[in-house]
Amino acid sequence: DAWSPSPSRYDRTPYRRVGRSGVQLPPISLGFWQNFGENRDPHTLRAIVRRAFDLGIFHFDLANNYGPPPGSAETHVGRILEQDFRLHRDELVISTKAGYRMWDGPFGDGGSRKYLLNSLDQSLTRLGLDHVDIFYHHREDSETPLEETMGALAQAVRSGKALYVGISNYSPERTRQAARILADLGTPLLIHQPSYSMFNRHIEDGLLDVVDELGVGLAAFSPLQQGLLTNRYMSGVPQSSRAGGDSRTLTERQVKDRDYQARVRGLNDIAHERGQSLAQLALAWALRHPQVSTALVGASSVHQLEQNVDTLKKLSFTDEELRRIDEFAID
Ligand code: NDP
Repeated sequence: DAWSPSPSRYDRTPYRRVGRSGVQLPPISLGFWQNFGENRDPHTLRAIVRRAFDLGIFHFDLANNYGPPPGSAETHVGRILEQDFRLHRDELVISTKAGYRMWDGPFGDGGSRKYLLNSLDQSLTRLGLDHVDIFYHHREDSETPLEETMGALAQAVRSGKALYVGISNYSPERTRQAARILADLGTPLLIHQPSYSMFNRHIEDGLLDVVDELGVGLAAFSPLQQGLLTNRYMSGVPQSSRAGGDSRTLTERQVKDRDYQARVRGLNDIAHERGQSLAQLALAWALRHPQVSTALVGASSVHQLEQNVDTLKKLSFTDEELRRIDEFAID
């Protein structure tokens, strides 16, 4: 079925500049971690991606291992790009990563030059692309010299297989070192991708200041705490949900935790007073720092995606609201 994107897709979104770079991103971007595997209906996936683009979301975040099984999210997205986005490739910012276990043996994990560059080639094949826009090292590897890992990122750019580079899950200190090495190699660090949500505030202890000083952007991942900061689990654990399925990163026990449930209810009340859903409150809150270039959100339906994008109608907070949120927004 033929589709052409909405002509007004760029009209409403206040795009954000990524650090001190030429790149701008939508405040909300779409991530493909656990929602684009082989266990999903391809029609739903295609509908989510089309709707995202129509709503001004042109940044799609991937990694080599997204699925399940690993690699299948890139394969799915590659198919959708081929079907629907041939005329729009240059409007998209597509990122991928390497850093977690992807194949057997010492070169299928970590931070070696061999792993990163071989993995990038595999990602490009799955995506059906000749380059990605951002290539990330997915997590720290203390056993590989940082010079080698950053050298591989710089090489990806020199070879034309990536336009920009990023790091993910790096400490503030390692971030500083990585940025220095990359600057010496003539490939500035564009962006850092840490987790950040009302229940996970670690970036407030240092990383926000470091990226500000370095002129690096931030892509905040799991801003909804994988669905905990939404109405998904307010009356039980649906079978179709992440915690109701066989995800190992969000369990039924976690979402039923009484302390979490109490805090979720407290935040939900504040959201409703603001005329928002809890998910919208959580996203607006993560976006309140100017350093946060984009919030990377997962969606298992078009409806979730639309609700999340509606967050942009109300992003501001009063001091009093922030103070009340602090009572419940603890790690
Ligand atoms: P979120 O915190 O946004 O959680 C997404 C989940 O929340 C959805 O799958 C859905 O759950 C639920 N949800 C979303 N919107 C709504 C809504 N409006 N109402 C009710 N429920 C909703 O993020 P993810 O954990 O999915 O991560 C987002 C992205 O961040 C990833 O896709 C990836 O790109 C990136 N990431 C990066 C990591 C890294 O190490 N660099 C690690 C993890 C993520 P359900 O599926 O149950 O419907």
